[in-house]
Amino acid sequence: MGVGWVYSQRFLDHDTGDHPESAARLEAIVAAVETAGLGLIPLAPRPATWAEVERVHERGYIQSVEAACLKGRERLDPDTAICADSFDVALLAAGAAIVAVEAAVGDGPTRSFCAVRPPGHHAERARAMGFCLFNNIAIAASHALDALGLARVAIVDWDVHHGNGTQHCFEGEPRILYCSVHQYPFYPGSGAAEEQGSGAARGTTVNCPLPAGSGDGAYRLAFDSRILPALERFRPQLLLLSAGFDAADDDPLAGQLVSGAGFRWMGEQLVAVAEQYCGGRLISLLEGGYNTASLGARVSDHLRVLGA
Ligand SMILES: [Zn+2]
Repeated sequence: MGVGWVYSQRFLDHDTGDHPESAARLEAIVAAVETAGLGLIPLAPRPATWAEVERVHERGYIQSVEAACLKGRERLDPDTAICADSFDVALLAAGAAIVAVEAAVGDGPTRSFCAVRPPGHHAERARAMGFCLFNNIAIAASHALDALGLARVAIVDWDVHHGNGTQHCFEGEPRILYCSVHQYPFYPGSGAAEEQGSGAARGTTVNCPLPAGSGDGAYRLAFDSRILPALERFRPQLLLLSAGFDAADDDPLAGQLVSGAGFRWMGEQLVAVAEQYCGGRLISLLEGGYNTASLGARVSDHLRVLGA
């Protein structure tokens, strides 16, 4: 079976103005994917319901995002631009991740890529942060546990920034393993190696902070020494990936040096984990990645690793 492709032109309507997290990112990805002629199975996203979003976010926060967008406010926090359509588009981005997970657990493609925006991994339970409104991957993971009855879900996050929102959602949740490799110290400030989860979930948060200037070798070591062994111990039934491409050697917002080959290698390791433990189920969600000249090629490469 081919690779699922969860996308809607509606994601372009989250108008952030002159901002690095812009519709041009998805336009570049779509153009590159069409040129590459990959064998993708289109899956139509649907908006996440309020109940699905409330597994992760406080109702009052969801209401405040809706109200801010309706009022035409331009920012939710100093970094996070919005427009009138942003609330509906953010619900669609979260729903896209749910659709991909439902397909993988049901009889759809076991591997999918969600070409979505706004991104999600910085969004906290009651706060927008870092270009993110709702935490798409956390909402999808919670759906897999609470609606689909899975017992263990793993999230790997190779976006160059630490996924503070995702970690904080699940650092007390032993049914979810969260593994992040990220530039550190760097935005958002969290993600030290000592942050390992709490209570019964101690050990189910795995942080691999890397100094600026780290490249393929350091990322490979983080995978080999920390992330892959943690996945093998945890034996997830579903693997989710916060696929940011801003650790790339040409990204304008960060200082890491991961090459195209480095991203392919990391993707291959996760496909192998998914095959071994998850019945092949691997859902990849776009997070960051801000060089629109190369982002399309990075994502096309990633889709080929997923099996397209
Ligand atoms: Zn990022």
